[in-house]
Amino acid sequence: MPVIQKCFVPNCGFTSADMPPRIFFNVPRSEFRHQWFAAAGKKPADEGKRLSLKTILYCCDAHFDLHYDVDDYEVFKICKAQGSEAPQLRLKKGVIPHIFPTVTPSDENLFEENIEPERENTPVAVKVPL
Ligand SMILES: [Zn+2]
Repeated sequence: MPVIQKCFVPNCGFTSADMPPRIFFNVPRSEFRHQWFAAAGKKPADEGKRLSLKTILYCCDAHFDLHYDVDDYEVFKICKAQGSEAPQLRLKKGVIPHIFPTVTPSDENLFEENIEPERENTPVAVKVPL
C-alpha cells in the first residue's frame, strides 16, 4: 500500500494523492525543524509529539520557489519532459519553506489560540551563580 504523503503546512492540505502530482520534501529531522515550524506558522505546542525528530513530516513544493531553492531543478525538468527517471530533488542548504497561501481570518484564529505546551515532569535544574 503506497504511503500518502501529506503536507505539514497548516491550511495547505496537499497530499501525494493530488493531481497533478506535487513534489514533497522531508521536513528536516534536526533542530532545523523548529525553523520550518516557525516559518509555517506552527507552534511546537500545536504539534506536540509531531515535533519529535523521529516523526517523518513532508512539505510540498507549493512553499518553495523551485527554480531558486532546489539544486538541479533544470536537470529534473528535462528528465521529466523526456520521461526519464528524474533525480531526487534536494533543497539547497538553509532553505526553509517561504511561500504560503493567504490565510483567511477564521483560519488565523485557529492558530492564535493559546495552547499551553505540555510540560513533562522533569526535575528543575538549579542554576549555580558564577
Ligand atoms: Zn503544502
